[in-house]
Amino acid sequence: MPAPGASRRFIGVDLGGTQLRAALVNEAGSVVRAQRVLTDRAGGPEAVVAQIEALVAEMRDDATQAIGIGIPGAFDAASGVVLGLPALPGWAGLALAARITASSGLACVLENDATAAAIGEWRAGAGRGCDHFVYVTISTGIGAGIVVDGRLLRGARGQAGEIGHCRIADASDPCSCGRIGCWEAVASGTALGRRAARVAAAHPEGTLARLAHGVPVRAAHVGTAARIGDAGALALLAEEAVWLGYGLVNIQHIYAPERIVMGGGVSQLLDLMADGIAAVVRERLLPGFPHVPIVAASLGDDSGMVGAALRASEL
Ligand SMILES: [Zn+2]
Repeated sequence: MPAPGASRRFIGVDLGGTQLRAALVNEAGSVVRAQRVLTDRAGGPEAVVAQIEALVAEMRDDATQAIGIGIPGAFDAASGVVLGLPALPGWAGLALAARITASSGLACVLENDATAAAIGEWRAGAGRGCDHFVYVTISTGIGAGIVVDGRLLRGARGQAGEIGHCRIADASDPCSCGRIGCWEAVASGTALGRRAARVAAAHPEGTLARLAHGVPVRAAHVGTAARIGDAGALALLAEEAVWLGYGLVNIQHIYAPERIVMGGGVSQLLDLMADGIAAVVRERLLPGFPHVPIVAASLGDDSGMVGAALRASEL
């Protein structure tokens, strides 16, 4: 055990459908060390629990007090039981927190992954000092973590903030949820990549097709092409900025944040879309609402695991 007054440390785990990440974090939210592995989807929940246990064993030290796990779905906060993860089948009913406590001897708490990322940015990142702020991640999907009146907004089963599935368009490709017109279906990195793939298919000699070089065109290729001035990529980002702007204005009308912090891969293109988003905000924001800063997450990919660790520090 650490000496009285010594810095306590916590392990934050970010359970994703593709990657499983863990970090040892101090009370200030600084990462001491971190590790990532590919989530063993094929192995199912038992294999992934074993992966989490291995990461915890690797990360922990004598000052480690507790573990927080950010999960991409619903959970029962009191019991630490997973209720369902859309991206990872077979997890419903798993007593994840109890399993990790039994194997590690450390207290463990579950948190929604977007809420965990919001905690990370609120306590140690770009949301520091705000009493009202929204973290929104624009990635494969769209999620949000919300702080209002200095408190996290979790809702029943931790499910508040599913803003990615608010309907925003009359028509779209099918959303990951199977419905049409969700914000996620038109503004996620997946949606941007899909539009870019169509442009690349129509212009096989164009910059996007050349950059992708035989692999599926993704949002990241759009960013690379736009930064070298490719007109097609800039047009794709202009359209993306409009879709993002609609959702960001909705967030401002519903939650009245002082700041919006954007994470996820698409946030790396925020500088290229700032003017387009600002134009939508000017057009649609109700009178009396201030134009709040929309900034990129300062912890980058670490927001979720840092936030999960800081959540564990409250135990
Ligand atoms: Zn949806």
